Amino acid sequence: RRRERNIRTLLHNSLPQEVVAMLTQAGDLARDLGYHVYAVGGFVRDILLHRRNLDVDLVVEGDGIYFARRLALDLGGRVRAHKKFKTAVIILPDGQRIDVATARLEYYEHPAALPTVELSTVKMDLSRRDFTVNALAVQLDPEQFGRLVDFFGGQKDIKEKTIRVMHSLSFVEDPTRILRAVRFEQRFHFQLGGQTERLIKNAQRLNMMHKLSGSRVFGELRLILNESKPLACLQRLESFNILESIHPLLKLDGNRQRILEETERVLGWYRLLYLDPEPRPWLVYFLGLCSGYNQSQVHLLAHRLAFPQKRENFIQQLRQDISQCREQLGSWMQNHGQVSDLFFLLEPLPLEGVLYLMARGYKDPVRRHLSLYLTQYRGQEPDITGKDLQQMGLPSGPLYRTILQRVLAAKLDGKAPDRPAQLEMAAGLARQLDDTPSEVRTR
Ligand code: ATP
Repeated sequence: RRRERNIRTLLHNSLPQEVVAMLTQAGDLARDLGYHVYAVGGFVRDILLHRRNLDVDLVVEGDGIYFARRLALDLGGRVRAHKKFKTAVIILPDGQRIDVATARLEYYEHPAALPTVELSTVKMDLSRRDFTVNALAVQLDPEQFGRLVDFFGGQKDIKEKTIRVMHSLSFVEDPTRILRAVRFEQRFHFQLGGQTERLIKNAQRLNMMHKLSGSRVFGELRLILNESKPLACLQRLESFNILESIHPLLKLDGNRQRILEETERVLGWYRLLYLDPEPRPWLVYFLGLCSGYNQSQVHLLAHRLAFPQKRENFIQQLRQDISQCREQLGSWMQNHGQVSDLFFLLEPLPLEGVLYLMARGYKDPVRRHLSLYLTQYRGQEPDITGKDLQQMGLPSGPLYRTILQRVLAAKLDGKAPDRPAQLEMAAGLARQLDDTPSEVRTR
């Protein structure tokens, strides 16, 4: 028998008080209902790794949806239930989400005259997971609170920093697990287990990646591109020729690799600034993966990844806008343009487009201007508003936009730095541009 371990103290020390209170409440509710409840998956793994992760996953031996409804009542949250999968999500008032699943059922034929008995067990649920490190559970029932449930050697693999599948057909059953294995390996600086690595090569020989639907591949690819070091994942995948087996155009060449490296650097720099809004990192990297390709090649990729038409159109348009911007930036540099010209050039681009431009202009002097733009100018507005123009008696119309834009330009270029200067400038512009006869205006 395995030695039992209780991590109650670790839970108290590593989680915020509210989360421990919530887990305790879940346990109390389970006792009242005659159920058992466990925290499972990445949440448990990350506690043992001392990594912050507040995405709580619960598995209930009992009716998971009913349990979720009752727990939500206790916690003042809402529930979204998926009857078909017997799962539910509790959404707490502060936005915290708790996933609740029903442990799968095991059917036991009873020898005597008894009918078949349903036994739901957390072991069954854990055995269907991707890797041993994700197949740990912590029991929450009051008498057992904090008991670590480790049927598959997850603790040992965490100690040995190893990503191991649960059984030898794992990748054949679900090839997206190959992408997940590499993602966890690189994120935690673990190693794939020897057998697990052989099973990946074997799945490759069976051409499993071809069988995967675009949306599932993209779901996992996007998770990789949202990691803090996606390039390491992509290179590791390349060492198994996985990217090209998803689609030949995904193969990394030296040029794309360099662009992705720069993208990683730029996103790292941007993250340190804690600016709003946060970019979608996957989009910046995806632009990098498409670099050097034309519109029809990008279409092939979008097709393989089953992009909805809207997403494909967005990306194709963004690529066009970016390449136009690159040209215009070149002439802006040559002509020693004003800050305001740079501003109006870049402002319509989504943030990801600007970050990608920075990654592309890595040796360029233009990069300094782009970083200045992002840190100081993006999202700037004049210190006066339409209300001020109204108070000047200017009849509303398209002139408002023109005047506010000219005032903003002057602000950015340091010619009308504050509100008084901008009010004066606006009044001047109103007099100059407004051709409404003054009798009409005073009426
Ligand atoms: P992250 O830290 O990236 O959120 P996670 O481990 O919480 O990682 P999720 O993608 O949220 O991962 O999945 C939750 C759990 O569901 C995982 O811990 C894993 O046990 C299980 N899981 C997810 N995808 C699969 C899969 N393809 N096959 C088997 N189990 C899976």
